[in-house]
Amino acid sequence: MIDIKNLTIKNAHEDMKSGKYSAVDLANAYIKVVNEKNKEINAYLEVFADIIEQAKEADKRFKDGTATILTGIPFAIKDNILIKGRIATAASKILDNYHATYDATVINKLKKEGVVFIGRTNMDEFAMGGSTENSAFGITKNPFDTSRVAGGSSGGSAAAMAMNGALSALGSDTGGSIRQPASFCGLVGLKPTYGRVSRYGVMAMGSSLDQIGPFAKTVTDAEIIYNVIKGQDIKDSTTINDNTYSIKKISKKPVIGVPRHFLGGDGIKKDVLDNFNESLEKFKKLDYEVIDIALPNIAYSLPAYYVIMPAEVSSNLSRFDSVRFGLHKDGKDGIDDYFLTRGAGFGREARRRILLGTYVLSSGYYDAYYNRANAVRRIITEDFVKAFEKVDIIMTPTAPAPAFKIGEKISDPVAMYLEDIFTVTANLTGMPAMSIPSGVSKVEGKDLPLGLQMTARHGEERVLFSVGKEFLGE
Ligand code: GLN
Repeated sequence: MIDIKNLTIKNAHEDMKSGKYSAVDLANAYIKVVNEKNKEINAYLEVFADIIEQAKEADKRFKDGTATILTGIPFAIKDNILIKGRIATAASKILDNYHATYDATVINKLKKEGVVFIGRTNMDEFAMGGSTENSAFGITKNPFDTSRVAGGSSGGSAAAMAMNGALSALGSDTGGSIRQPASFCGLVGLKPTYGRVSRYGVMAMGSSLDQIGPFAKTVTDAEIIYNVIKGQDIKDSTTINDNTYSIKKISKKPVIGVPRHFLGGDGIKKDVLDNFNESLEKFKKLDYEVIDIALPNIAYSLPAYYVIMPAEVSSNLSRFDSVRFGLHKDGKDGIDDYFLTRGAGFGREARRRILLGTYVLSSGYYDAYYNRANAVRRIITEDFVKAFEKVDIIMTPTAPAPAFKIGEKISDPVAMYLEDIFTVTANLTGMPAMSIPSGVSKVEGKDLPLGLQMTARHGEERVLFSVGKEFLGE
């Protein structure tokens, strides 16, 4: 019996290398769990039929000595990342039967390592949401309490990991969609620096905000995946190389900055704040200096995000025009086809954001909304750059509360958007941010995971990794 509950990538690799078990054994262990649990949790939209064949290929590499650290590691992939020949829906009816015609760059890199893809995971439609309730293919439940959401939009990837149905997963993060579900599901979730990981082959939501990143059980595992998927890519002109940002020499321990003034609102649950303060105490015991910092304009992050993101969404989703991809409905003429197809194919949240985005980009309002939001985005980024002259890492909780109940916020979009209060800023500034598990909150007799979010300077993922490892004792 493989103890997959406590398994990490590092251990699994050592075990397979030493012949303790094979990649096929490992794959079978995960398939068993997925068969038992996926019906209830709905983490996977599809479990691939060829898992064992993939694992056999991995075993060959262990035999011939070409195995790498990720060879044979079971991965769950968010359903907006293309794997050639397989269905990719972004959890939308408009792409119900769409087959990817090429591999995303990240998939290409993982294939070279010989990972084993277990399946494609559920998500909010086109990554719009924070609960995976906006999927056209059912809600994903939180394995810690099935009456609650797994978070979103990468809720399927997080739940797949939390139910032990994968050892690692990829998600995409436009405003928190890796970090928030990681926090709801007791995992490590990383959004890399903008441009660090190629977006080629991920379905675009907000192109100036999107990044692909890993879910993992440990910071060490997240770092392993990050090191494989990162890198400049000729197919994504926004990717950067390792020398794009000059790395600051930190002679002593990184200094932690806390925007206290932003943690006072009533939106934040007491348990979350208590847990956050305990985490800071732990850092002090580990000899870190913790100081208060000011981010004077951070309160405008959420409003700026909810202008910029829908603007980009409305433009990106215009490609679903009944002709080029996916669903096609026949009307009386071309325009009618377009209306019928988009009306039938997009869910409520997608339609809401397309309308909002089209509005803020329309000729009379462009300056008042979109350009203004971009100016605010720049000012917020400058505030962070300034704060990073004094500190090396900025900490907040990842989310204002633990996982909420299914249905609790779905009819109140503003309440749902407020969930993103701590996460959207890293996407606006392009800085790397990671959520790590920091404890639990007991709610209705269940232990619900909480997350601590750390943000670093552009290009300084290594600071996140070193501080995260020390906190978790890795
Ligand atoms: N919850 C945020 C939103 O709905 C973030 C989404 C994301 O990161 N993909 O926009």
